[in-house]
Amino acid sequence: MIDFRSDTFTKPTPGMMDAMMKAQVGDDVFGEDPSVNLLEAKMADLFGMEAALYCPSGTMSNQVAIKVHTLPGDEVICSHLAHVYIYEGGGIAFNAGAQTRPINSNRGMIKAAQVEAAINPDDVHKARTSLVCLENTSNRGGGCCYDWNDIVQISEVCEQSNLQLHLDGARLFNALVATKQEAKDYGGVFDSISVCFNKGMGCPMGSVLMGSRDFIREARRVRKKLGGGLRQAGYMAATCLYALDHHIGRLQEDHDHAKMLATALIENQYVGHMFPVDTNIIIFDVQNGMTAQRFSDILRKDDILVMPVAANQVRIVTHLDVNREMVQQACDAIVQMQNQL
Ligand SMILES: *Cc1c(COP(=O)(O)O)cnc(C)c1O
Repeated sequence: MIDFRSDTFTKPTPGMMDAMMKAQVGDDVFGEDPSVNLLEAKMADLFGMEAALYCPSGTMSNQVAIKVHTLPGDEVICSHLAHVYIYEGGGIAFNAGAQTRPINSNRGMIKAAQVEAAINPDDVHKARTSLVCLENTSNRGGGCCYDWNDIVQISEVCEQSNLQLHLDGARLFNALVATKQEAKDYGGVFDSISVCFNKGMGCPMGSVLMGSRDFIREARRVRKKLGGGLRQAGYMAATCLYALDHHIGRLQEDHDHAKMLATALIENQYVGHMFPVDTNIIIFDVQNGMTAQRFSDILRKDDILVMPVAANQVRIVTHLDVNREMVQQACDAIVQMQNQL
């Protein structure tokens, strides 16, 4: 099977397994796991932030951040396509007792003027606006990267209005590679950042949340309450340390593979509008009587898996476990499809 459904379908490489087996571990709830401590220190250092916290999933690191940044009844501004809004099970309401203010956005990316207009006045009728959540790359927006100036302008609005600014950076490394930016640029403008290791980085699990020392102290308490305090988590942290050393630069390959697939797809008469391909995610509409399910079923016959994300929309994601030959094979199958039907 060639699995393009998500970049979460990767398995640890032999090198990563080896790193796991050799990991130094301890009880992380007591703060005594050297591998977790090293991962947290390295990530904080990489992003120029004071402290970091290893969490079991990206959802948990986002939810922990939102809980720490808000009080019950507060309002969180985010895009209408944000993962924190549409894919975290209503977690903002459940965990933080806060409500969301989803903003209509181009591919999941909001603008400073929209944030400014969505801030509630100091009025007892209104929920207190306390947090803005951005997402980079934007998953439902087809892996697009925020314009840096937009981020800076939003951070200025937040500063002026005393709002916290959180980044759901599940695929932030993809954005850094694609835009050739530095991690520290991001650390400098956000109050908190979460980064996933279970996506393109190829690890079995985990995410790292970063922020100020005070923020992370609180985040550690919330993570414990959510049941996310792990014991010998160093076996998993070791995979993340390995990925930091070996899997960031290679993300460019995933982006190149996505471009190859996009080029083949555009030639297919059943493929309609496609978002520009900035990183490792391709989202396109199907047309000419095709449905997303049928498109997926046809490719499945050639052992190629893609994901229907709406009745007429398909998602393809490249990652560590699809190599150049597999991508070429998929390109051939996409071209062949026309002749078969
Ligand atoms: C995958 C993802 C997450 C978190 O996912 P987990 O599966 O909980 O690790 C958060 N935000 C975005 C944008 C994602 O794509």
